[in-house]
Amino acid sequence: MMRQYELVERVASYKPDPDETLLNKAYVYAMQKHGTQKRASGDPYFSHPLEVAAILTDLKLDEETVAVALLHDTIEDTDATRKEIDSIFGERIGRLVEGLTKIKKLDLVSQKAKQAENLRRFMLAVSDDVRVLLVKLADRLHNMRTLHYVKPEKRGRISQETMEFYAPLAGRMGMQSVREELEDLSFCHLYPDAYTTITDRLKEMASENRTTIEKIAAVIEAQLAECADNITVSYRQKSPFSIFKKMERKELTFDKLYDIFGFRVYTHNVAQCYQVLGLIHTRWPMVPGRFKDFISTPKQNGYQSLHTAVVGPSNQRVELQIRTHEMHQIATYGVAAHAHYKDTEIFGGDPYADLRTTIAQLAQNPDPEQFLEHTKLELFHDQVFCFTPKGRIIALPHGATPIDFAYAVHTDLGNSCVGCKIDGKLMPVVTKLRNGNEVEIIRSKDQTPPAAWLDVVATGKAQAAIRKASREAVRKQYSGLGVRLLQRSFDKVGRDFGRDMLEPALKKLSRTSIEDLLADVGRGELEPHLVIEAVFPDYKAERVTQETPTKEDGWFAMAAANMLKFRHPLAKKGKGQPDQTGSLPIRGVNTDLPVRFSPDSGAVPGDRIVGILEEGVGITIYPIQAAQLLDSSENAHKWIDVKWDLDPDSNVLFQTKISLNAKNEPGALGIIAETIGKLDCNIKNLTMSNQNTDFTAMEIELEVWDLNHLETVIDQLGRKAVVNQVKRELT
Ligand code: MN
Repeated sequence: MMRQYELVERVASYKPDPDETLLNKAYVYAMQKHGTQKRASGDPYFSHPLEVAAILTDLKLDEETVAVALLHDTIEDTDATRKEIDSIFGERIGRLVEGLTKIKKLDLVSQKAKQAENLRRFMLAVSDDVRVLLVKLADRLHNMRTLHYVKPEKRGRISQETMEFYAPLAGRMGMQSVREELEDLSFCHLYPDAYTTITDRLKEMASENRTTIEKIAAVIEAQLAECADNITVSYRQKSPFSIFKKMERKELTFDKLYDIFGFRVYTHNVAQCYQVLGLIHTRWPMVPGRFKDFISTPKQNGYQSLHTAVVGPSNQRVELQIRTHEMHQIATYGVAAHAHYKDTEIFGGDPYADLRTTIAQLAQNPDPEQFLEHTKLELFHDQVFCFTPKGRIIALPHGATPIDFAYAVHTDLGNSCVGCKIDGKLMPVVTKLRNGNEVEIIRSKDQTPPAAWLDVVATGKAQAAIRKASREAVRKQYSGLGVRLLQRSFDKVGRDFGRDMLEPALKKLSRTSIEDLLADVGRGELEPHLVIEAVFPDYKAERVTQETPTKEDGWFAMAAANMLKFRHPLAKKGKGQPDQTGSLPIRGVNTDLPVRFSPDSGAVPGDRIVGILEEGVGITIYPIQAAQLLDSSENAHKWIDVKWDLDPDSNVLFQTKISLNAKNEPGALGIIAETIGKLDCNIKNLTMSNQNTDFTAMEIELEVWDLNHLETVIDQLGRKAVVNQVKRELT
């Protein structure tokens, strides 16, 4: 067991002139109070608070926190009282110890119905002083390290609580080393077989690769000597749990060096980080898509580093993190490290501010019953805890998506949600959230939640809000279309149109409001000429014969009016679209969704489409036949099911490509261009190459509304005598 003077020495090693009296007093007090109590391991009970204190000295925390660690179980487990602790150690330490006592009994996993209240009490207790949370995490860490002494039937629940709650919380506080250890220890108890398999394989691979790894580190270090002196390279084995997680995501087969080892470069300042990066990218080919700059854009928990991967020495793929020593401290110790780097620019202001706000919000709710009621329904399902970028905890039922998350924060946020970042990465809004995810919602004020989200969301709140918003939006779209249709019709008969003019006609048309009337016109349920007749009772002009709208499977071209092309709302339910419940709706390119169409492949509405998630780009849409998809065939997790969800009145055109062989005769090109033009289709680009004296090969880039439109164009071209072969091009 650590001696009294050893503890003082540990603190003195990072803090000059520590408060020895306080440390000594707390050591003696706790040792005497715990007396002859024993741990499950058979060790004296006092070894536990002492180890917790030691963990906190590893995190280089102040004497008060270390003293609180020594005292943390005294009120709960001995005859010590708050009053006595106050009188010996002062009110501040007394309050911290009491805070820890309060949260000790809170069960955060098994009693579903009490979870909300317990979580709230937990937050209240740590809201006073975040050091309570630091001591609690150290306490949990030591308990996890000694969990194998505890009765087997208790281990599962404790591990689960650690995995679901304390590990993500440590991560949220930026304490990566604590997080990883908590995860690995829980993992070992929750999935013992998987744990053994992975650790055995890790050992094997480590011994097989030892020489190569050392060589790689040495070569990189030698190269970096060009930048500055004392730039060091280290390597580390990835944690068993992080490998397990990746395997669960089917991301790796776990047999390559880079699957299990990561390299780190430590520099002295930020400029050197980028210098090192430049040098490494110049020396070795980089692996595309792996570069991330968390220096210019730190993670919410303060994490900073450059990440990249190169095909490095020995032709091995090498994953590298480049950071300063200070950044490394913060990556390892998180908020606990802050005290030591107060003067740097890494953190501005109070590092605990975010957490405090969260806690204050939770704690402000004066009525626990109401708080519970609010979350109870969701809590009966298994749940996930996620964080807002400001650190607020959002509890959601299992299976919830970022859309649910957005609605849980605020209805407006849900209604304007167009995309999201999960832990800083652009992800589809239909992703299932996991415990500890930090979710940032990307908003657009023009957004209306697509009705297709109804199939995707997991919370009643989100469902109700989406239904309401899409009802309103659809109605708005129809009434907007109604206005345009009426304007045109009034125009045609030489009358001015104004919304107010409709008021007197409402009764005659049996409509209750102007909005209703407009929407019915938009829906095609009320013909514009009836409105004209109702507004102008004297109007008896002969019916303007309209050409019958050409119906191209869901498309109406309103009588010679190019302005008013719109898609019949019912056409969406037509053929050719397999049911894709749960897929992500794409509304074309004119939204703020991080979605783009593959520039070469020319997907058009009606095509069966898939999205490929590309880091930093978002989702790229391809038609299912596109050859490029073969490139991504190994990364099944990047495939996203998407379907078309165009606004009913959208007149967005989509670019696509056809190729044809035309006879070499005068006027051939003219016939082709005319055919295309007559079908209301734009030619964006045309390239020709002479294959032989008889035929010219052409590639034509077109803009079409949808697949039917494109097929009509191809069909009509094929009927022309000058055209030999025409087909769609999917590159
Ligand atoms: Mn304890």
